[in-house]
Amino acid sequence: MKHLPKLSLYIHIPWCIKKCFYCDFNNYLYKSNIQEQKYIDHLLLDLEQNLHFSYGRNIATIFIGGGTPSLLSINALEKLLFGISKHLLLLSNLEITIEVNPGTVTEEHLISYKNIGITRISLGVQTFNTKQLIKLGRIHQPTEATNTALLVSNIGFNSLNLDLMYGLPNQTINQSLNDLRNAIALVPQHISWYQLVIEPKTIFGYNPPQLPNEEILWDIYNQGHELLITSGYQQYEISNYAKPGYQCLHNINYWRFGDYLGIGCGAHSKLTQVDGTVLRIVKKKHPLVYMDGKYVEKYYQVSQIDLPFEYFMNRFRLLETIPRQEFTKLTSLNESTIRFALDQALSYGYIYESDTTWTITEHGKLFLNSLLELFI
Ligand code: SF4
Repeated sequence: MKHLPKLSLYIHIPWCIKKCFYCDFNNYLYKSNIQEQKYIDHLLLDLEQNLHFSYGRNIATIFIGGGTPSLLSINALEKLLFGISKHLLLLSNLEITIEVNPGTVTEEHLISYKNIGITRISLGVQTFNTKQLIKLGRIHQPTEATNTALLVSNIGFNSLNLDLMYGLPNQTINQSLNDLRNAIALVPQHISWYQLVIEPKTIFGYNPPQLPNEEILWDIYNQGHELLITSGYQQYEISNYAKPGYQCLHNINYWRFGDYLGIGCGAHSKLTQVDGTVLRIVKKKHPLVYMDGKYVEKYYQVSQIDLPFEYFMNRFRLLETIPRQEFTKLTSLNESTIRFALDQALSYGYIYESDTTWTITEHGKLFLNSLLELFI
């Protein structure tokens, strides 16, 4: 029987108090009548219908994302985690992350999160600059982010992540570095540091703000990267930094082309079958349609032609060497199918190749899109 990759569980909570101006995630306005208990029942039914994919496989990580999962009541979260534990084989040192929006949780909430088994808090800070928070359409103030981070540390979760963005409207290098300095002062184990990208069909997409030019962005990235490294964080993915031993295992599983089961509105799954084919499932996006019991929007098998691109698109984001034998193990394709693309990548200096590994070069990181295009 084929060796199946690691399996994670993703749960999508689709509501937010307000739409941030840059956000294109699948979320809907939170109202008092959202029927969270009904949604939890449907999440568990959705899981039940997918249980055959998890047969005999352990779950090492759970990620509760959104939307704003911290809008859920403790009762609802407890019922959800209890229901999951009845259905799935959970590893004892399970990583359970919940995304938290500052301004939506109290100390009581956070203590309850710890008591029901949540191990990791991912806090959406974005910036510590009040004016920038308003420009981004965020609902919170810098002090709420700081206070929540301090509470998380005092309560003693295994890990705290702070989500930050740079390249904000008219942001200077110093403003961006100040955000990083404020974050580092809170001593989180993990920092996700993303460049703001204007997506179509967002408020910024319709009315684009003035963003820093390429030169400023380059300086922000270089100086910010240096600051993180000298502060004891290791870059393990293009936008993710962690103290040693505190990488996000859930996201690493995505980037190592592991399997994941997604439940909830718009959630995606990637599941390797025993015959080696890779199946993708997308769930219905809108909560009202989803809560009608029609969970699946589409199922499809990833074609053999698309597998190399999908594999490397994830794999090269992680800044680690790739065991060459893993490609065949996870795609069921022979290395000869990508030999031409690999030789081109080598000739352009995008990767190094040893007898047993591939590693992306500094040049390859700068031209990641061109590198990946070779595998299309
Ligand atoms: S809180 Fe997060 S998910 Fe909700 S609108 Fe803002 S960025 Fe998007």
